[in-house]
Amino acid sequence: MSRSASLAVIGAGVVGLCTALQAQRQGYEVTLIDRDEPGLGASFGNASYLATELIDPLSTCKTLRAAPRMLLDPNGPLALPLGYLHRILPWLMRFIAAARPKCVAQAREALLQLNRAALPAWQRCLDDIGAAEQMVASGYLLVWESAGRLEDAKTHAAYLQQWGIRTELVSGARLAELEPELAPRLSHALYFPDACQMREPYRLCLQLFAVFKQRGGCFVKQGVRSIRPDERSIGVVMVEGVRDFDSAIICTGAWSRQLLKDVGLDVPIEAERGYHLTVEGKASLIKRPIGSAERRFVMSPLKSGLRAVGMTELGGLKLKPFKRRFAALRHHAYALLPSLRRDTARVDEWMGHRPTLPDSLPVIDHHPRYSRLLFAFGHQHLGLTQAAISAELVIDLLSGAPPSIDPAPFRVDRF
Ligand SMILES: Cc1cc2nc3c(=O)[nH]c(=O)nc-3n(C[C@H](O)[C@H](O)[C@H](O)COP(=O)(O)OP(=O)(O)OC[C@H]3O[C@@H](n4cnc5c(N)ncnc54)[C@H](O)[C@@H]3O)c2cc1C
Repeated sequence: MSRSASLAVIGAGVVGLCTALQAQRQGYEVTLIDRDEPGLGASFGNASYLATELIDPLSTCKTLRAAPRMLLDPNGPLALPLGYLHRILPWLMRFIAAARPKCVAQAREALLQLNRAALPAWQRCLDDIGAAEQMVASGYLLVWESAGRLEDAKTHAAYLQQWGIRTELVSGARLAELEPELAPRLSHALYFPDACQMREPYRLCLQLFAVFKQRGGCFVKQGVRSIRPDERSIGVVMVEGVRDFDSAIICTGAWSRQLLKDVGLDVPIEAERGYHLTVEGKASLIKRPIGSAERRFVMSPLKSGLRAVGMTELGGLKLKPFKRRFAALRHHAYALLPSLRRDTARVDEWMGHRPTLPDSLPVIDHHPRYSRLLFAFGHQHLGLTQAAISAELVIDLLSGAPPSIDPAPFRVDRF
């Protein structure tokens, strides 16, 4: 296919935006299509943390053992809304099956490959668009409240060390020096000195989009109803008509299932609903993203304020957000940052859909029959982290360049 070929990128979240820009760099004429303005899906409200140390898939024996307790805790990090339970069961069965040690090892290896390449890929992307200041070498702190869980921290540090991920066990004065506003009753923490964050995920999307347009990219704000692929072109059926492209890439995050069904692929993607609170003007309370190992939520200092994010609610794409989840996030944030409790600052509440496959790996691949139709979606909790490297990988597949990472684990027909 000639490099000036027309390409539709469907979905303007952080994955679609990075993909559209990477395709432009390779000389494609790109049309980006979204039913909404860019960056308003999951990419809008994430924790902005580049979580390259999350190398384990979500489904492991350890997570499955912890699940019942998490479900029973009213402020717990896991929820299965009753109204969606019957719909999620087949996915849950696959998720449970993915906890087999062999599957975990394979998924971990694939996540390691992506995560190791993630920050250099972001650096290349941000340097190219003149936005290098977005990525900050912030470090990350994973905290424990219970002294009885000191061994957990040590075991985790030793585990990560095997994969070359550096941590420092901190407590007392060192912990207070790193994060003075944290509750003094915290017991200990792991400090990740090499970790990075973005300053603000939505602003990042707007920056990517602005450069895409400056470089001649076209944006069409329309919903895509279906895809009509054949050997020579890809028809994109939109609300207001059909347009033909030389090739297309589907980057529609948690909404990808229906579009793939129409092209004969059944991909078990589910929405893991996550919530955030952003407390305006309070970012300076912390210096870096902070995760709680026990409460399983994260707080990040962003341009827009102090953001607390968390919850895995397996509730699909249609249910409205549940108010009690925001209350749970408040409860956790107050416990770690007591001074927030006295605050009257404005708080924004938001819920978004993480696109998650049972084995926790994204799909980055060609259609098995129509090589002009490609996919990059399903990045679960790591879509911001892995967006730039996924974009490089999928554009390598499109252009026939040798990919820098083995794409086999990300095949669309692996289920
Ligand atoms: C609370 C929360 C915290 C998170 N924290 C982090 C974090 O700190 N670090 C990290 O790496 N990741 C994090 N994530 C995950 C990350 O945000 C997602 O994995 C990532 O944003 C997915 O990006 P995407 O571009 O694939 O999807 P999205 O951003 O959801 O974009 C998909 C786009 O497709 C469009 N679309 C869908 N269907 C159609 C259609 N038929 N026609 C046209 N357009 C369509 C949508 O409108 C949307 O704009 C978090 C997620 C949540 C919810």
